[in-house]
Amino acid sequence: MAEAKLAAICRATINGRYVDTPLTIPVINPATGEAFAEAPDCEASHLDDAVSAARQAFPAWKRVDPASRDAMLLAVSARLRGEIEPLAHLLTQEQGKPLEEARHEIETAARWFEAYANHPLPVGQRREPDGRLAEIRHVPIGVVGAIAPWNFPVQLMAWKLAPALKAGNTVVAKPSPFTPLTTLRIGELLLDILPPGVLNTISGRDHLGPLMSEHPDIDKISFTGSTATGKAVMRGAAGNLKRLTLELGGNDPAIVLPDADVQSVAERLFWGAFRNAGQVCIAAKRIYVHDDIYDRFAARMAGLAGAHPPLPGNMPGARIGPVQNRVQFERVKAMIEEARATGLHFLSEPGEMAGPGNFIAPTLIDNPPDDSRVVREEPFGPLVPLLRYSHVDEAIHRANDSEYGLASSVWSADVEQAAEVGRQLEAGTVWLNTIHGMTPTLPFSGHKQSGIGVENATEGLLEYTNVQVLVRHG
Ligand code: NAD
Repeated sequence: MAEAKLAAICRATINGRYVDTPLTIPVINPATGEAFAEAPDCEASHLDDAVSAARQAFPAWKRVDPASRDAMLLAVSARLRGEIEPLAHLLTQEQGKPLEEARHEIETAARWFEAYANHPLPVGQRREPDGRLAEIRHVPIGVVGAIAPWNFPVQLMAWKLAPALKAGNTVVAKPSPFTPLTTLRIGELLLDILPPGVLNTISGRDHLGPLMSEHPDIDKISFTGSTATGKAVMRGAAGNLKRLTLELGGNDPAIVLPDADVQSVAERLFWGAFRNAGQVCIAAKRIYVHDDIYDRFAARMAGLAGAHPPLPGNMPGARIGPVQNRVQFERVKAMIEEARATGLHFLSEPGEMAGPGNFIAPTLIDNPPDDSRVVREEPFGPLVPLLRYSHVDEAIHRANDSEYGLASSVWSADVEQAAEVGRQLEAGTVWLNTIHGMTPTLPFSGHKQSGIGVENATEGLLEYTNVQVLVRHG
C-alpha cells in the first residue's frame, strides 16, 4: 500500500463520477520491473458506494426499452474501437503482451458489445396440456459483481459486461490489482454513454474480491480466475445465495495423431501453447504426440522456441512478451528449477533472460513423467511438456486424467478420426485441427474444476437472468 506519489492516470468511476482514493496501488510494467502509474486502492466504503449506486440505477436500467439499451451497447463498442490505439498501448504497458495482441484484445471487447447488442434475449411460450398458456421470460438478476484476472483483463471483463448490461443488470467491475488501468480507463470512457450507476469500476488490493463475494447487496458474481480463488468466491457467495458464473483454471491437453502434418501442426500448437507467454487459460498445456512422429515434432517445436525469444511488448516484432507479474514469474521459474533438479530433459534452452523484466524463454520439456508437477499443474507461463504416447486410447486416458476440463484439441489428417477422439475428451471445448479463435456466438464453459456456468452466446447471456414464468388461465 503506498501513498499517492505518482499521478493516478486512471480513476475509479462510481455513480457516473470520478472517485479519487487516498491510497493507491503501484502498477508495474512487467517488461521493465518499474512502477509507471498508480491505481486507486478502493476500500470497503468505496465498494459500498459502488454497490449502492448500482442498486439505485437498477430499476430504471432494467426498464430501458431493449432498442435503446442495444443502441448504448453499440455506442460502447464504437467508443472502444475509436480508442484502440491508446487503450492498446496502456494494456501493453501494464500487462506486457505484444502491442498487436493488445490491439486485438480491445477489438475483441468491442466485438462482444456489438454482438450482444444484436443478440435478442429469448422469450418463450408454452401451451400446457390443461390449456393454460405460459410465457417464459428471462429477467435481469440485479447487481452483478464482475471480477477479472490479469492475463486478458479487457477481453475477459467485456465477456461479463456486455451480456450483464444487455440483460438489464447493473454492474460493479473489479479488474486484477496487477492490471487495473485499461479497465478503469474504459470505465472513464463510458461515463457519457451509460446512465450513472449502471457501470461502476473500482480497483484495489486483493481484499476487494472477498468483500464483493460476501457483499449482501450483490446478486451475482461473475468471476474469471484460478480454481482456488473460485472456490473462495463460492464460499463467500453462499451468504445470500448469489448466482455464480465461475471460469477457472485449465490444464488443456492437445492430442496429435500419427497422421498429422508435423510442420504445420507443431507451429499451430507452438502458438497455442506460448501465445501471451503461455498465460492463457485455454493454452495447450500438455501436448501428447504419437511415438511415430514425436522426434520430428519435438525438433520443430524446439526450433520455433529458439526463434522466438521473449521481447518487450512494445518492441517491433515482439510475439512473446514477459510474464505479467513477479509472483507468477517466480512460480514458473520454480517449476523450471524443479524440473531441472529432478533430471528432466529440456528440448529448448530454459530459463530466465537477462534484465529487469519478467522474461522467460519458451521452455519445452521432453516427455516428463505423468506425475511430474509440470504435467499435473497449470504452469500458466512459457513452460510446456511434450508427452509421448503409443496408442490413442492411452492418450485419451492420460488427457482426461486431470481435475481440470476447460478445453482441448485433437490434430489429424482425418478430421472424422479427430472428432471420434474429441468426443471422448472431458472438456467444455474440443477443437479439431484448430485451436482458440473465440467467438461471441459459441458457448464457453469448463467441466470438472474448470468452472461452473457458461460464458458467451445465448447460454452465457441467460446466466445474467432469472427465469420468470407467467401463466395465464384461458
Ligand atoms: P486469481 O484467482 O488470483 O485472481 C482473479 C481475480 O480475483 C483478480 O481480480 C483478484 O484480485 C481476485 N481475487 C483474488 N482473491 C479473491 C477472493 N478471495 N475472492 C474474490 N476475488 C479474489 O487469478 P489470476 O492469477 O488473476 O488469473 C490466472 C488464473 O485464471 C489461471 O488459473 C487461469 O487459468 C485462470 N483463467 C481462467 C479463464 C477461464 O475463462 N476459464 C480465463 C483466464 C484465466
